[in-house]
Amino acid sequence: MNNIKLVVLGTGSVGKSSITIRFVHKEFVDKYDPTIEDLYRTPIEYNGQIWCLEIMDTSGTEILRMRDLYIRNGLGFLLVYGINSMGSFLELQQIKEQIVRVKEMKASDMPILVIGNKADLESDRQVSSDEAQQLCAKWGVEFMEASAKTGMNIDSVFESVVKQVQDK
Ligand code: GDP
Ligand code: MG
Repeated sequence: MNNIKLVVLGTGSVGKSSITIRFVHKEFVDKYDPTIEDLYRTPIEYNGQIWCLEIMDTSGTEILRMRDLYIRNGLGFLLVYGINSMGSFLELQQIKEQIVRVKEMKASDMPILVIGNKADLESDRQVSSDEAQQLCAKWGVEFMEASAKTGMNIDSVFESVVKQVQDK
């Protein structure tokens, strides 16, 4: 079985752990220790083959050198912000630059997907879909809104990044 290593990045409390746990365990955990960094393994079928997905759920508070290490080991990247937090959206710039620096590749040449999580919190929205879509088009990376709470697009984001890992 082939391994595909993904890294989930983003600032604190955007829902990195919730997305990962929703995908791996098909459930929404309301209170999850924000300091936990963990590696999850789960099989995924793609193109008639079974792959082992290794998902590194980072804490967002790890020291930069530690994050360099996660990035170096990663093949695909999920960059998460909350649609209810402009600050978390603006933080992605720095994370994208860190990936580009560590991998020495253009963002558009790497399997990167930006997730606007908490799409269920429409009434608290601070980041419009258009604005996020425009930034992602500029970077040449994929974009999707999702919700770990309702499960919206959670399977899709992982399928899409696995497809990019295969294609790029
Ligand atoms: P992390 O620090 O990025 O790992 O964030 P967590 O997964 O720990 O989530 C932080 C908080 O946001 C928790 O209270 C979660 O229950 C909540 N949360 C995560 N995803 C969603 C979502 O899609 N919708 C809503 N409404 N809350 C979410
Ligand atoms: Mg977490």
